[in-house]
Amino acid sequence: VEAPPNDFIREIVRQHLAEGRYERVHTRFPPEPNGYLHIGHAKSICLNFGIAREFGGICNLRMDDTNPTKEDVEYVQAIHEDVRWLIQGWADHCLGLKPRGQTPQTTTVNGRTDYYLPPVVGRSDDDTLEPFFASDYFEQLYQFALQLIRKGKAYVCDLSPEETDRYRGAPDRPGRESPWRNRSIEENLDLFQRMRAGEFPDGSRTLRAKIDMASPNVWMRDPVLYRIRHAEHHHTGRAWCIYPTYDFAHCLSDYIEGITHSICTLEFEVHRPLYDWILENLDLPRPRPRQYEFARLNLSYTVMSKRKLLQLVREGHVRGWDDPRLPTLRGLRRRGVTPEAIRNFAYRIGITKYDGLTDMAVLEHAIRDDLNRRALRRLAVLHPLRLVITNYPEHQVEEVTAINNPEDPGAGTRSVPFCRELYIEQDDFMENPPPQFYRLRPGGEVRLKYAYIIRCDEVIKDEHGRIVELRCTADLESKAGGRNAQRKVKSAIHWVSARHAVPAECRLYDRLFTVPEPDLLEDWRTALNPHSLQILQAWCEPALASARPDERYQFERIGYFVLDPDSTPGRPVFNLTITLKDAWAR
Ligand code: ATP
Ligand code: MG
Ligand code: MG
Repeated sequence: VEAPPNDFIREIVRQHLAEGRYERVHTRFPPEPNGYLHIGHAKSICLNFGIAREFGGICNLRMDDTNPTKEDVEYVQAIHEDVRWLIQGWADHCLGLKPRGQTPQTTTVNGRTDYYLPPVVGRSDDDTLEPFFASDYFEQLYQFALQLIRKGKAYVCDLSPEETDRYRGAPDRPGRESPWRNRSIEENLDLFQRMRAGEFPDGSRTLRAKIDMASPNVWMRDPVLYRIRHAEHHHTGRAWCIYPTYDFAHCLSDYIEGITHSICTLEFEVHRPLYDWILENLDLPRPRPRQYEFARLNLSYTVMSKRKLLQLVREGHVRGWDDPRLPTLRGLRRRGVTPEAIRNFAYRIGITKYDGLTDMAVLEHAIRDDLNRRALRRLAVLHPLRLVITNYPEHQVEEVTAINNPEDPGAGTRSVPFCRELYIEQDDFMENPPPQFYRLRPGGEVRLKYAYIIRCDEVIKDEHGRIVELRCTADLESKAGGRNAQRKVKSAIHWVSARHAVPAECRLYDRLFTVPEPDLLEDWRTALNPHSLQILQAWCEPALASARPDERYQFERIGYFVLDPDSTPGRPVFNLTITLKDAWAR
């Protein structure tokens, strides 16, 4: 829908292709399977798949699964599904997967060993394909580590994790060399092989790169490449008890997959010299990938760290990972947000090198734009007030014609039953209104959408003084086609026929937090919005009894709604995706 944006990363890609530096651009999206994807990930997905799509390339989906303890196959499945959902009909043909169980091919190029795992594209619903897994490269990574040791570029270090940290120093304090730094190559090879064989306990030894303990960049001060962890891994089981660090695994996974542009968020900028160092210090026969960084998405009125999302779910602040209030892709999906709206949002916010806070209103705007175009208009009353048209025949029912979508002439019209007893919204009537109130008042007139102009003659109250019914007369010539059809009144309100209306549960969602940046609070949970979910019994026009989960509805003058999976036959449940900008104002 929207034109592809331009930004500094796309500019780099365009230039590289023009220079002929790469035959084909190859990106990747590398989530760690330790949680569900959220709108921040969507920014990265839209960038990586967007580039592949716009420049005729491929984007691999890769599980960045080098940490055995926090990860799970449940997340692998969910991530694969959510990525497919987000790119469907847009970049499926760029999705790089691999045959199930396939690991890198080993070849020899000019006497140098090479590992390469090419993608299979364009068959995203094929069950014989699966995402890439960094953990599939553990054997190759191990071989690369041996190579570094043999070149005197890596050593086994016996400092504890705490000592290693202390020796590393800080940006303003130089590091100290480990006493184990000058072990012989033979001793290092022997110890590293025994680390793999499981001879040593967790935390007793690490493999470290031998770089520069005086570097101003702390990441270059002999970074850890391998840790001992006797733990079961969701993908490799018990095969390994040493696990590579992110820095060692990431650049080499990119290399093995033939990635050209490895795009990540700004906090990895300081890791880039290490990314390059590892690749430069190995004998790699194919072109090396390069890392580029962009500013991550921070969105107001929500939290996005996986730890906090997990806490919201575990502590019961929300109903699950797909709770429509969460910024997870599952939550947004259940809320009724379409992939197109998310992609348009990602395109609109653009890619920069400066961290900032994106206003939730920008996302809401993209959602409204998208739903305005596609939603079928329907009549529903959330807070019913009974209205009787005293001059309308008691047993008469007529069908009035209503437009399905003014933005889409192809959507046609439908009939809505009209009779003497209706429900209107309580807020559309005021007994003692201020001057700017143009809806119904005693003695005043409004149009009932698609039907007649009515005048309020009488207000009926119960014994507590609450308004329970309005008695009105209709101008029976004011409907479309009637003599007074063109007569103007200040406003038109929605309604449903009380005799025909179908009941529905409506779940109204508001922002999850009451402050723009909950992350800044000492306890972010104190800013949870207690009114983020409100459940109502609404009355809907009969057409909504056959609502479909793949359709989007605008309840006129209220907002956009989608059918929730909790619906049962005859008992629809609707989620409010978002209110109309000018809800209640017309
Ligand atoms: P968390 O910090 O919540 O644990 P993460 O950043 O570690 O999340 P990953 O699964 O490692 O999550 O992220 C996968 C990819 O998505 C990475 O390339 C990362 O840069 C990108 N990503 C994650 N969060 C955002 C964000 N808020 N904005 C843009 N990209 C993001
Ligand atoms: Mg991560
Ligand atoms: Mg992170």
